Amino acid sequence: MSDCCSAPGLLPFSQALNRMLEQITPVTETVVLPISKAMNFVLAENIASPLNVPPHDNSAMDGYAFSLASLKKSETLTLVGRSMAGSPFQGQCQLGECIRIMTGAKMPDCCDSVEMQENVYVDNDNITFLQDKTLGSHVRNAGEDIRQGQQVLKQGHKLSPVDIGVLASLGVAKVQVYRKLKVALIATGDELKLPGQALLSGDIYESNSFVLSAMLEKLHVDVINFGIIEDDFEAIKAAFISADKQADAVISSGGVSVGDADYTKTVLDDLGEIGFWKIAMKPGKPFAFGKLPNSVFFGLPGNPVSALVTFHQLALVALTKMQNAQSLKRTMLQVKCSSDLRKSPGRMDFQRGVLTVGDAGDNVVSSTGSQGSGILSSLAQANCFIILPSEQGKVKAGETVTVQLFDQYL
Ligand code: AMP
Ligand code: MG
Repeated sequence: MSDCCSAPGLLPFSQALNRMLEQITPVTETVVLPISKAMNFVLAENIASPLNVPPHDNSAMDGYAFSLASLKKSETLTLVGRSMAGSPFQGQCQLGECIRIMTGAKMPDCCDSVEMQENVYVDNDNITFLQDKTLGSHVRNAGEDIRQGQQVLKQGHKLSPVDIGVLASLGVAKVQVYRKLKVALIATGDELKLPGQALLSGDIYESNSFVLSAMLEKLHVDVINFGIIEDDFEAIKAAFISADKQADAVISSGGVSVGDADYTKTVLDDLGEIGFWKIAMKPGKPFAFGKLPNSVFFGLPGNPVSALVTFHQLALVALTKMQNAQSLKRTMLQVKCSSDLRKSPGRMDFQRGVLTVGDAGDNVVSSTGSQGSGILSSLAQANCFIILPSEQGKVKAGETVTVQLFDQYL
């Protein structure tokens, strides 16, 4: 399928993304975890506050609590008790009296305001207030942070360290979350060697599974790494069958184009319903997506930049949906481009850019230079993608372009 702007036979990027998302079924199984073990899990329930935070009116200062009506009669009040954090004042007080109070201590029922200790004169039990006060000063009211019954976190929210703290502050000890996804990784290629091994003539080091595994760890899934599988029909088939049995999603890199050693297509045609797409995007034209008997399959191109960009822009979005997490919000900006950019109409480009603050205080983006799909170091230098729409031709320095800031996965 194509549209007005893509080359014939190429699938527009947004259609590829939508087509893929339509086929993703989110996990339904949940587990109950203590909050100390729940970081990065996706909430399977809405959390409403079981109590007011803070639970009682309390003092924001070390000082003296009193009723404002008392100060209308006299500037000097009689000290009759103390309220400390964790041991509140238990007695009664009358007009003309005040209570020593510490930060966080419960406000005595008979008081409505607090004066900080620096602003009083103390003569034994006679406390003289040196400044005029307003009702409720230096008092933190019950429920001013969170009201009882208020929704605090929503189903689909991925729990951050701060969220864990908020849950603790509500007295919530356990949460129901979706189980972790299991994702299998397979790198295909006879030329690939692991870092630490010696390279023979024609070999290169395998990097895709390292990048992908690190990104998947950030996504908070369990990675089952199958390592490097040689370009051999039986070996690839055995790896895919085993991966499909163990994982919710199987991700391979390499072998999705139509080279002589690209067995992935033949194997997958055997095992499942896999679409081999030519997506109108650069880098990353060849991409495979579909269903194996038990899992979904993403076939990334072998070139390191293409593998990373298709994983980040397509597979990560699908896996996020599969986790039940709220969809990724990526920050897009319109900024001036300070370099010329090469581009021909027909595909959507994800060029590597460096966004900086220019001399005039405005944001400017420049290209990292060579945009070859094998040049992984161009991604390491970049901090954003310059996203150029399909129909766009070359860009002249000074023109405005759309950039997508790198998110936490890159
Ligand atoms: P392929 O898609 O298998 O034709 O591979 C395209 C290019 O990416 C070739 O230059 C491969 O050597 C390279 N490549 C494939 N897989 C990897 C990998 N896992 N790590 C680094 N480079 C790779
Ligand atoms: Mg290959």
